[in-house]
Amino acid sequence: MSHTPTRADFDQYMVPNYSPQKVIPVRGEGSRLWDQEGREYIDFAGGIAVNSLGHCHPVLVDALKAQADKLWHLSNVYTNEPALELARELTERTFADKAYLCSSGGEANEAALKLARRWAHDNYGEQKSRIISFSQSFHGRTFFTVSVGGQPKYSQGFGPVPGGIVHAEFNNLDSVRELINDDTCAIMVEPMQGEGGLKPATPEFLEGLRELCDAHNALLIFDEVQTGVGRTGSFYAYMDYGVTPDIMTSAKSLGGGFPVGAMLTTDRVAPAMAIGTHGSTYGGNALASAVALAAVRHIDTPEVLGGVAKRHDLFREHLEAINRKHGVFKEVRGMGLLIGAEMAPEYKDRAKDILPLAIEEGLMALVAGPNVLRMAPSLVIPEADIAEGMQRLERAIARLVAGK
Ligand SMILES: *Cc1c(COP(=O)(O)O)cnc(C)c1O
Repeated sequence: MSHTPTRADFDQYMVPNYSPQKVIPVRGEGSRLWDQEGREYIDFAGGIAVNSLGHCHPVLVDALKAQADKLWHLSNVYTNEPALELARELTERTFADKAYLCSSGGEANEAALKLARRWAHDNYGEQKSRIISFSQSFHGRTFFTVSVGGQPKYSQGFGPVPGGIVHAEFNNLDSVRELINDDTCAIMVEPMQGEGGLKPATPEFLEGLRELCDAHNALLIFDEVQTGVGRTGSFYAYMDYGVTPDIMTSAKSLGGGFPVGAMLTTDRVAPAMAIGTHGSTYGGNALASAVALAAVRHIDTPEVLGGVAKRHDLFREHLEAINRKHGVFKEVRGMGLLIGAEMAPEYKDRAKDILPLAIEEGLMALVAGPNVLRMAPSLVIPEADIAEGMQRLERAIARLVAGK
């Protein structure tokens, strides 16, 4: 390459819907990354809860390379072995009987919502179309999913949104009771709100949603795009709660960095997605399925899932120690390796100011809204990287406190 790309090229050549950090990472290994200048970073961001086994994990690299020499893509005019194996593993390891494969979380949710509408339409008639979702929820950026999502900023300015969608308050069953009726086809909920600030649902809330759905013949949809595939320390978060949905979506950690999504459902609901009702050219792509299959088999094991619980405790201890010294957080919360630290009132909305300071100290982290510092590292991040990363985070926070 004669021209080495720079950050300025982003502003010149790319649509301005993102505002990436100044550095450009070029190589990753485990939970470490290196930029164009050879500077090294510890990765607590994990590609937004995607790089479930860190960067270039040998299990995933081997699966990708082996499949790359065999077969990449067929379309759904044919099926392929990795897609069939992935669907079998996902259904055998969960409540589900059937899988629909796609390429992202938004697409998986789009399929879930269309399935719920179509199932209600076919079984009860057209009037059963109401979808209940929650304020602050996030379900993706397709037009249906921004409309169902509970953050108006993501749908504003795009013209009339689809009808039949109402929003209740998360963790407030009474607010759902007020909105649900026999024309309700589905409730969509994240077991733990991710983008909405890392708020876990209470067990009573999810149990109550299950009862309300059953009472009104509505489907319960769990959006586990961010919480699924080991992220909370169980294979899926619904297993922690013991509440079983009718439809569940998965993406992010599922591919360990390769774009893939899945919508899972039961034999009762799946027939509504009959031949020709829905589809995607890339759904069940052989490369994506081969990588996801390797990720699922590696992650859904006692070693990896048990390690998530242990690492959760380490993250919490370090964050609480930082807080005892600097008093910047109001609360540290989350499940497994999806951890949030909400800023104290004196530092309101300053979580986002920590990110560039952390980059300068050699640490990548995330926010969930401007007021919550978020961490979603590799599920197998080495303990030494946690300790070193926390030292770097503390230096960044000390600079925030000192006013830089
Ligand atoms: C990230 C996310 C999505 C959207 O996934 P994409 O792959 O970006 O389309 C949907 N729901 C939840 C809960 C998410 O965290």
